[in-house]
Amino acid sequence: MENVDDAEIKKFEALAARWWDPNSEFRPLHEINPLRMNYISRRINLAEKRVLDVGCGGGILAEAMAHHGAQVTAIDKAEASLSVAKLHLLESKLQIEYLNSSAEELATQQAETFDVVTCLEMLEHVPDPASVVAACKTLVKPGGWIFFSTINRNPKSYLFAIVGAEYVLNLLPRGTHDYGKFIRPSELAVWSREAELNLKDQIGMGYNPFTKRYFLQNNVDVNYIACYQRPPVS
Ligand code: SAH
Repeated sequence: MENVDDAEIKKFEALAARWWDPNSEFRPLHEINPLRMNYISRRINLAEKRVLDVGCGGGILAEAMAHHGAQVTAIDKAEASLSVAKLHLLESKLQIEYLNSSAEELATQQAETFDVVTCLEMLEHVPDPASVVAACKTLVKPGGWIFFSTINRNPKSYLFAIVGAEYVLNLLPRGTHDYGKFIRPSELAVWSREAELNLKDQIGMGYNPFTKRYFLQNNVDVNYIACYQRPPVS
């Protein structure tokens, strides 16, 4: 059985036309994009690198990485989002290969192909996130880098990411996230260890509702990004 939640895909397809509207439901992704892009490019010079973006949506991160000179392939299971992503290339004049695929499917065809794999804000939308982690490991070259981002699972993250973001501040549509599918950094670490990936760094993301600004922080209680490396062959 495919590791895809059809209800989740439908949710994203219904919003797909608004991927590039910075004032839409995707506003938080537009606002965190420079932060996470910086976090990635501070670690790795993306110029000329082969990069795979897993769960790319309309291509917000994929385009930013292409701007940094990466040769980007980006995959998603929502066809409507891929159409919007491809259309946006006409405007941005960038080249990105968009494919309708899951990480697991691509892993059977393109093992050890990519220097960098990014999988941001996606693991909390799939039935079996450990399977995506393992597929990302297969897709990246030995010595390559993988970035995951998701939402921690604890009372504070429930309060901030669901009550705050979906009900009080209306940053996201209600029902965007399911608390039970949030992922503790320790759980991500276990799946990654099982896939023989090494944790290199981890950083939190915060939001100030008064200034309406996102920022990177050491605290990983709610949103966080983790950087893993596949060991180089010895
Ligand atoms: N990574 C993007 C979009 C995050 S939204 C960003 O951070 O800007 C989550 C995306 O994951 C949606 O586009 C959704 O369609 C996609 N997705 C959900 N399940 C998926 C799966 N099994 N395989 C590929 N993409 C999936």
